[in-house]
Amino acid sequence: MKSGKLIVLTGPSGVGKGTLVRSLLNRHPELCLSVSVTTRTPREGEIEGKHYYFVSRSRFEQMVEADELAEWAEFAGNLYGTPYFALTQGIGEGKWVILEIELEGARQIRNKFPEALRLFILPPSWEELERRLRSRGQDSESAIARRLLRAKEEIEAAGEFDFQVVNDDLEFALKKLEAILNLVDISGN
Ligand code: 5GP
Repeated sequence: MKSGKLIVLTGPSGVGKGTLVRSLLNRHPELCLSVSVTTRTPREGEIEGKHYYFVSRSRFEQMVEADELAEWAEFAGNLYGTPYFALTQGIGEGKWVILEIELEGARQIRNKFPEALRLFILPPSWEELERRLRSRGQDSESAIARRLLRAKEEIEAAGEFDFQVVNDDLEFALKKLEAILNLVDISGN
């Protein structure tokens, strides 16, 4: 099997991880995304197998029992996990695999794969995070409240990660991520 790298990207809900990851994937074919399983209901436009594998709680529990998940966690009332096959597939193709996951899962990956590079995305401010979460209009008020509560805990743990990147300006944040991942020369040349 060719060598590959695991890149863990964590940060509070609404910080813009999804947009950052999509832009990285578009620009760098050597990267691929680990598609997670979740018990969450699909949002409008989300595609099975592309954004997530949407499963029932009992199917998820079966996967945990069968040790099919490299990590998993409950987040805002739903279960999320990384199937081993999502990792081995990308690594087998010699790619760098990005895991866009929350804090508990990131900690499990650190314990299982200490060599994984762990990045934390921070919002420019708490007010801006709240504004972004509300403006995407995808979640109920109670889901937003749960996500904000969790965001506080996650931000407090940002120091556990190898690098912290503030997502203020998207292009600038992308450049920083690319520099960290050595995808471009840090001087911009
Ligand atoms: P969302 O419901 O907004 O898609 O995701 C909620 C949170 O779950 C986000 O912080 C996202 O990064 C995280 N998440 C997505 N997939 C996984 C996974 O496989 N494992 C863990 N631990 N968290 C995940």
